Amino acid sequence: MTRDQLQAKLNTLDGRDYRHYQSLTGEYDFTDFRLVIERIPKDPFAPPLSGLYRVSIPLPDTAIEQPMIDSPSAAIACRDFFARQFYRQSQRIAGQRRGTGHSGIIAIDQPGQAILQRSSVVIQHNQLEVRFFIGLPATGRNIDAALAIKMLLDELPLIVSQALQRAHTDVALLQLHIHTALDAQYLRHRLPALGLLAFIADGSILPRASSSSDQPLASGTVIPFQSPDSLSVQVTLPFAGEVSGMGIAAGITLLAGGGFHGKSTLLQALQMGVYDHIPGDGRERCVALSETVKIKAYSGRQVIKTDISPFINNLPLQRDTQAFSSNNASGSTSQAASIIEAIEMGARVLLMDEDTCATNFMIRDRVMQQLVKKEDEPLTAYIDKVRQLYRQKNISTILALGGAGDYLEVADRVIQMRRYQAFDVTLRAREIVHKYPSMRIKEDQDTAIQPALRCPDASSIDPMNEYQKPRLHSPDVQLLQFGRHKVDLQDLEQLIELAQNRAIAYAMLYARRYMQTGTSLPQVIDQVMSDIQDHGLDILSEQLSAHLAEFRSFELAFTLNRLPCLRINTDNISSPY
Ligand code: ADP
Ligand code: MG
Repeated sequence: MTRDQLQAKLNTLDGRDYRHYQSLTGEYDFTDFRLVIERIPKDPFAPPLSGLYRVSIPLPDTAIEQPMIDSPSAAIACRDFFARQFYRQSQRIAGQRRGTGHSGIIAIDQPGQAILQRSSVVIQHNQLEVRFFIGLPATGRNIDAALAIKMLLDELPLIVSQALQRAHTDVALLQLHIHTALDAQYLRHRLPALGLLAFIADGSILPRASSSSDQPLASGTVIPFQSPDSLSVQVTLPFAGEVSGMGIAAGITLLAGGGFHGKSTLLQALQMGVYDHIPGDGRERCVALSETVKIKAYSGRQVIKTDISPFINNLPLQRDTQAFSSNNASGSTSQAASIIEAIEMGARVLLMDEDTCATNFMIRDRVMQQLVKKEDEPLTAYIDKVRQLYRQKNISTILALGGAGDYLEVADRVIQMRRYQAFDVTLRAREIVHKYPSMRIKEDQDTAIQPALRCPDASSIDPMNEYQKPRLHSPDVQLLQFGRHKVDLQDLEQLIELAQNRAIAYAMLYARRYMQTGTSLPQVIDQVMSDIQDHGLDILSEQLSAHLAEFRSFELAFTLNRLPCLRINTDNISSPY
């Protein structure tokens, strides 16, 4: 159908009931692009997720050139760029509600500070395709045809041309977007060869605008990051050329310092270093190994058959800690479980902030060792495990702290944050330890940390709500409604976008096909991730979706671990590791 036919059709709908909009589903040829109206919500209040509109324009009409999409990583960054262009233009041109419910808005999922694979923009069949939502306008339930015509025939073409067409694309910005992602990935891949876990470039802007915003801090004086000389590393990036910055080597690293001097800010930049950031973010060249996991204590969380015995043993009343389950874990238990789950999924670096750790999990000082004998203390504090983890499993720890000085004894290096500046105080810390030894008794440093295999049971993953209808709903980045179950993800700080949360919900359902007797959680997740890598995010849901973004294998596993209905089998299966 042509755009004129669309207009004629809309004219016949004026004033009629909203459900008559359904007759618009179909394909329309505009001169410069093609519009497919895939799904139209049944009423003007239905959430934007329930509608789906697609426009596609031929690649030669865009500023995209072959080298920009030759590698999968470049193509992902390219798509991410156009998602942002479309977001900006649709906000500007049709961002306001005009009428009942969502009437009058043209909207695409809002991208955050990370460059991610997104289902809202795809490149296929030599076309750039954008998936979005149109709130077809109504007053009450009565169709407003005049406004619908304006939206579909004037505003949409304007958005498409401003956001996607070559003439309106700043090629330098597009290139910068792609190069920024490729440089960050190059840097991340170089880390092992440099013997590093993470790299923070000089000049980086680490602090964020607020605790609820991931935008760079812009108000007041912002101190750019500067590496101490002793930790400075130079790397030559493919596009940005030589950069220098602070390298954090493998082992145990403390980020020490007084309160409000920038420890947590640095740690947060490290935990976000698993993602590539957009130009202007301030953390474009702050990277960490992809296998970096932030660990927190989160009392009240669910734990399913997790072997926390390396940390917690001999509980009163003989509770089993080799396959420990709880739907209300304590601070220390939750932290132990999170560490074991991270190890299970192949974490190489654990990040912890003293502020959000359980004190009794982290330390047991000399004085307490005198009062409470080891045989009366089920916990083995992390301070007695941190070196073993590194020695036996090559898992490094980076720990931000201001109080637990006993850790100086077990650290390989100590970085002190003073007025937002980093200083290498390792030598001084050694002198202090020599002068004031903690005289702690080292406790249990040897119980092997070898979690048993946990095999998720597909039949337990139930997406049905109380009316026996499948329901997946993501009200918030850190909350998922999965069937009848609320999945609390508040402690997963590396889950950063609602679209990731949604994709994980689908991925949990999708993963069921790989959950067979004897298939461990990491094996299941590996297969899901490899399917996404091969076929894109569309593979996750039967219905085409415009609202998914890529996520890490870790966050998928951690979400499953928090799914209330999940059953895990821990039968004796010979370990492949
Ligand atoms: P700590 O963990 O050491 O107590 P934070 O990292 O929480 O300190 O930082 C304290 C405050 O200082 C935060 O509000 C943060 O935004 C701000 N801040 C951190 N780094 C910088 C910086 N480089 N420049 C300006 N302000 C900063
Ligand atoms: Mg702090």
